[in-house]
Amino acid sequence: MDLLNELKIEKKNYGASTGQKWFTTEDQGELKIYTPTTGEYIASVYQASEEDYKKIITSSLEAYQYWIKVPAPKRGEIVRQIGIKLRENKPTLGALVSYEMGKSLQEGMGEVQEMIDICDFAVGLSRQLYANMMQSERPMHRMYEQYHPLGIVATISAFNFPVAVWAWNAMVAAVCGNVNLWKPSSKVPLTAIATHKIVAQVLKENNLPEGLFTLIIGKGSTIGEMLINDTNIPMVSVTASTHVGRHAGQVIAKRFGKAILELGGNNAIILTPDADLKVAIPAIVFGAVGTAGQRCTSTRRLIIHESMYEKIKDSLIKAYNSLKIGNPLDEKNHVGPLIDKGTVVVFQDALKKVVAEGGKILTGGELLEGKGYESGCYVKPALVEAENHYEIVQEETFAPILYIMKYSGSIDEAIKLNNGVKQGLSSSIFTNNLREAEAFLSAWGSDCGIANVNIGTSGAEIGGAFGGEKETGGGREAGSDVWKCYMRRQTNTINYGTTLPLAQGIKFEI
Ligand code: NAD
Repeated sequence: MDLLNELKIEKKNYGASTGQKWFTTEDQGELKIYTPTTGEYIASVYQASEEDYKKIITSSLEAYQYWIKVPAPKRGEIVRQIGIKLRENKPTLGALVSYEMGKSLQEGMGEVQEMIDICDFAVGLSRQLYANMMQSERPMHRMYEQYHPLGIVATISAFNFPVAVWAWNAMVAAVCGNVNLWKPSSKVPLTAIATHKIVAQVLKENNLPEGLFTLIIGKGSTIGEMLINDTNIPMVSVTASTHVGRHAGQVIAKRFGKAILELGGNNAIILTPDADLKVAIPAIVFGAVGTAGQRCTSTRRLIIHESMYEKIKDSLIKAYNSLKIGNPLDEKNHVGPLIDKGTVVVFQDALKKVVAEGGKILTGGELLEGKGYESGCYVKPALVEAENHYEIVQEETFAPILYIMKYSGSIDEAIKLNNGVKQGLSSSIFTNNLREAEAFLSAWGSDCGIANVNIGTSGAEIGGAFGGEKETGGGREAGSDVWKCYMRRQTNTINYGTTLPLAQGIKFEI
């Protein structure tokens, strides 16, 4: 296939690299990758060994000693060139994201665009790693703070954003002076290999050492465990399910490492009587069924004022029944496949559970079969009447299920439902009522990391800090001042006088 040739993906690929150099381990198991779009076989990847991991760490530690001495704007220049290479490769890399993961072609391209955008952001940032200067209480003293890099920053990424989340972390961490080790999801390793090879071209053109950007593809239970336990890695950014993130977070904290935890969401939209339905309905449907419900920010709960509940329910049933489900590479389709057949089972089990708890499936839930659905990964998105306290509604099911529920009183009741789950990633309100919107955004409003007015829960821009509270993990990545997470802060006091005044007026004479 041309796409694979252009991206230098072989029939069989290796799973560990320090940049240009690939390790040739073949005895740790071979990941065979099939596209969920058609079920066709794409290529395979040999998983890395523990020895490969150790060699990568040695190379990264050496590279770090070089990279910390490169001025930040010069590091930004390398990131600028990576952004250019990504622009050149956007059509092929975006298509591979879609083909391997199963998201729409537009979303695959959008993901590469996010990588390009974060490169641009990081280039600017490389001249803006600002810190504060404070007034010392002692004469002839200067006090200020500065930020230094951490060392190896590792990125563990999830299958649903095969490349963008890595770039959010790696590009910002790189301008801060860190080197990056990437452990992608074993469900989508080919896009990671393709990205790594694109970045390697820039490193080669600039004569940069091995170890700056490294890649390791291996089992969570071996390579993943080594990585989170490794004191050579001061910071790990973990994008994962809450289950995996809870474990990783505890292991990293135990060794006093830093972690950015970007975990599961259970995102709600509140629809009030003052909502503009022309804006709200497409946002709800896109949020719930886009990427087949496999975004951390997918809309999973809809909280509707009782006065409009029946009307909204009918509109949504109509909209759901008109959805085109099929190959995501065909732009006419609204909904693509789930990542694999295992996720289809998770989807079906969740629907059984919600019905057992008293919920009612209004439409959808079927596994699609026949022509065009040969991969066995296509389902009809489900619209379900449910209550917020149901056990299954409290969980994130990573599939297209939208639970709809009523509120009857004031906006406070709707906010309580919005906040009444363990996760705290994204949230939205649709209203033209200023008081309702401001209440939702206030300190006693949404408890999520992302709170929107008149736009849906999914589709964040890189300029903001992205992440969520509670069981979403509390981490932030991408824009704003997130760069500080990839650096250590140091407070410096310099005495340029000829005496030794102590702080708080303490006297010590000898
Ligand atoms: P997952 O938890 O199964 O795996 C995520 C990553 O963790 C993979 O790379 C996996 O190999 C690795 N891993 C597994 N066990 C490990 C271990 N013991 N040590 C180290 N690494 C280990 O998640 P997934 O199915 O790939 O992705 C979906 C989940 O990710 C959802 O819950 C979704 O909400 C979440 N997610 C969150 C965000 C966010 O920003 N909050 C973004 C994308 C996805």
